[in-house]
Amino acid sequence: MFLVFSLGRKMARIAIETYGCTLNRADSDIMENVLASDGNAVQTGYSRSYEGFDYVIVNTCTVKSPTETRIIDRIKKLSAGGVRLIITGCMASANSDMILRAAPGASIVTTSNIHRISDAVAQLAAGRSRVDYSGYSRVDKLAFGGAKGAVISRIAISEGCVSSCSFCETRFARGPLNSFPHEVILKAIEMNVRKGSREIELTSQDVGAYGLDRKTDIAELLAGAAGIEGDFRIRVGMLNPEHLHRYIDRLIEALCMRSAYKFLHLPLQSASNSVLRSMGRNYTIEEFIGYVDEIRAKVRGVSIETDMIAGYPAESEGDYCDSLSFLRNIRPAFTNVSKFCARPHAKACGMQQLGNRIVKSRSSEMSRVARQVQKEDLGKLVGSRASALVTEQNERSFVCRDDYYRIIALPRRTPGITLGSRIDAEITGSTSVCLIGRACATRSPS
Ligand code: SF4
Repeated sequence: MFLVFSLGRKMARIAIETYGCTLNRADSDIMENVLASDGNAVQTGYSRSYEGFDYVIVNTCTVKSPTETRIIDRIKKLSAGGVRLIITGCMASANSDMILRAAPGASIVTTSNIHRISDAVAQLAAGRSRVDYSGYSRVDKLAFGGAKGAVISRIAISEGCVSSCSFCETRFARGPLNSFPHEVILKAIEMNVRKGSREIELTSQDVGAYGLDRKTDIAELLAGAAGIEGDFRIRVGMLNPEHLHRYIDRLIEALCMRSAYKFLHLPLQSASNSVLRSMGRNYTIEEFIGYVDEIRAKVRGVSIETDMIAGYPAESEGDYCDSLSFLRNIRPAFTNVSKFCARPHAKACGMQQLGNRIVKSRSSEMSRVARQVQKEDLGKLVGSRASALVTEQNERSFVCRDDYYRIIALPRRTPGITLGSRIDAEITGSTSVCLIGRACATRSPS
């Protein structure tokens, strides 16, 4: 059920600038659909100047201090340039005071209110100097999303989570778990695939918690997509491993279906049980490795991505070395290493912090080890062949994804390649983040 509004409002020119994770980008897609359905002209992406635009929506992220500082500088600059600002995203929900200090005239629309973005614009068009749509409302905002049929479609499946990780600011922004209905999500997948999407990214703050408030789960949802026709792949978003025990067998089964990328993103954060306890992560390193071994044994060639934090306040030298050994021995396909930074509302902010020099040296060493592992393992695939979907492009290359969600980069000048096509590629090289290929055959999107 897709809702389209046309309340005869004056058309406005609106830009949406998005920061942060896939969930935030899915929110921007929903806002774009609501505003465009209401007759507004919407531009998405970053732009140096917003001359001629009536409103600029800045969809913010609060996960790391450097990102937040950059966004605040951007808001200050836009506000000083006289742009009418509407601030959404996690900062709007968790740190609106910081925003209003930077831009007192900015309007606020929090993450659970983005489906009302058109009302906010209408209020401003009707003469209000600023509006404030804050506070929490439990709404299945996916129902307000459209189906653009872009090659990559981001579909939010829930908002909020049930965990209380000590380093996390996001949970203060997104509120309690609100899982969107199965049928609405499956409909969104089907509509986007029918319109030409080849990659569906199921996203949330924690897909692992999906359905706890609706007696379902991510494994059941993924299996529900099995019947959808088409040559497309579903990527399951970030999943807190504490939930895996509830459905790992069924999730493994669902990952084996054709339309699922053989890929899982399981943030570990630390390989030390004492640090995991301090972080409020409800699993042990032994359990985590057990899950990885079981998934690797039953989903052939599966790629496991993980996240690690270096320099967490309670991390001893020994704990840190455990994390390095984990990377060298368990060899995740891809590791996102974050330097610990204290977040204002998060419990870890009140802990005795490690010195910046220690935090910095640990995170750069951990990044180096992670890249070395990736380089070695991707290097083993040189000379092999793979089938992949062409999902993105930039000036120099086409970005293709094989069934294990690995990137295969093809030169942009390769003839006969279009976004959405499927290629057979010979792997001719590799780096620490991707494979380099030569197209042997191409099949256009059916
Ligand atoms: S699972 Fe933890 S890190 Fe993820 S959003 Fe929830 S509290 Fe934050």
